[in-house]
Amino acid sequence: MAGRGQNDSMERLLRAASGVSRSLALMSRTALDTVLPPQCLACDALVATPGSLCPDCWDDAVFVSAPFCGACGVPFEFEQGPAALCGACIRERPVFSRARAVFIYNDVSRNLVTGLKHRDRMHGAPAFGRWLARAGVSSSRTPTLSCLCLCIVCACCVGVSTNRRCSPRR
Ligand SMILES: [Zn+2]
Ligand SMILES: [Zn+2]
Repeated sequence: MAGRGQNDSMERLLRAASGVSRSLALMSRTALDTVLPPQCLACDALVATPGSLCPDCWDDAVFVSAPFCGACGVPFEFEQGPAALCGACIRERPVFSRARAVFIYNDVSRNLVTGLKHRDRMHGAPAFGRWLARAGVSSSRTPTLSCLCLCIVCACCVGVSTNRRCSPRR
């Protein structure tokens, strides 16, 4: 019985310590947000949650979702089947087997990518990681290359040259 009582005491102590730890983390977060308020990853507007987009940027961000080309990931206007390819991939298969992008290239995705690549805005990395993982999820076993925005697939990240033009799309 004494062992059981010690276990109960230990559990209560651990729960209390955990509560104190959460409270300290919340206080630290609040203090940090007061000194350095969280900003939108794309435009620097103030936001409620660190590592997020403001409502305007969220509205303007065009996330790529199915249906899309089975090779390059260019979105289709309507469903064409699970392995359908776009015209460009039918004419000439890309050197990679499959690529997926998080965003269509526009002002918001350009700001996100340039912030990460050229302005050391690494605090967005967790959000980018979540978006990239979601874009790369597939039932296929074929490896997927996931990039932040569709334009980047062509050259910057893949490091390959194609005959295709890398033009911003809306
Ligand atoms: Zn914004
Ligand atoms: Zn394609």
